[in-house]
Amino acid sequence: MTLPPIPDAFRWTDESWGPALRCVPLGAIASHLFTTRRLQLSVVTDWWRVADALGVRRILTLTQIHGRGVVVVRRGVSTPRGKPEADILVSDDPEVAIAVRAADCVPLLLADSRNGAVAAVHAGWRGTAAGAATTAVDALGREFGSRPEDLVAAIGPSICSACYEVGSELVDAFAAAGHARHLIARWFVTTPPRRGAVESERPVLRLDVAAANRDQLMLAGVAETNIHMSGLCTAMHLDVLTSFRKEKDLAGRLAGVIRARP
Ligand SMILES: [Zn+2]
Repeated sequence: MTLPPIPDAFRWTDESWGPALRCVPLGAIASHLFTTRRLQLSVVTDWWRVADALGVRRILTLTQIHGRGVVVVRRGVSTPRGKPEADILVSDDPEVAIAVRAADCVPLLLADSRNGAVAAVHAGWRGTAAGAATTAVDALGREFGSRPEDLVAAIGPSICSACYEVGSELVDAFAAAGHARHLIARWFVTTPPRRGAVESERPVLRLDVAAANRDQLMLAGVAETNIHMSGLCTAMHLDVLTSFRKEKDLAGRLAGVIRARP
């Protein structure tokens, strides 16, 4: 297996199941990783491997519902039971790692360089329209006193705009959610029909969901230089990653996992 090239801020690491992706500046603050398709995550023992890699005994996951609900994990307070319904986890508890799962959606991890608190966010188009990234920054501030300028973010593998053809109803949903028109114009890319194409061929609309999350973090006050994008497309690297668009019900899931600084 050849691992795809990644930006300087990321590195591939060798774990008990195979490769994982880590972000170097984020790793300077908090233990974290993005899993690859080598780890199916369909059995509990796979999660134990991830827990081992991060040095914890428990990982809290969510029943993800494509929204912006937040679950808070607090040091010294009993961790929420089961898999609560939400798409954002924030934590200052180093005893428990927090994880989101995705296959094309954006897995986003955040850490506060000052107080060591962390967040994990699952943002597909619905969560992105709902402002999940911004909500996570707000939640870190509200729960742990985090300041946006102290946050470092890693945007894990997700579907790229070239592979993510969408319908115009998504533009309507983003507009209805209150996003500025110039941002919507930047996030939705229209490819004109090919030259010499038949007349019935219509322009194709695509969504850059990773860029939308980056922009939302910046609007929330996170410095652009502290936002690290893996640039990896889930649909283009099926030997290493997994894509719901490409593989439908056969798609696995990648996890973004992070642990608050002890
Ligand atoms: Zn792609």
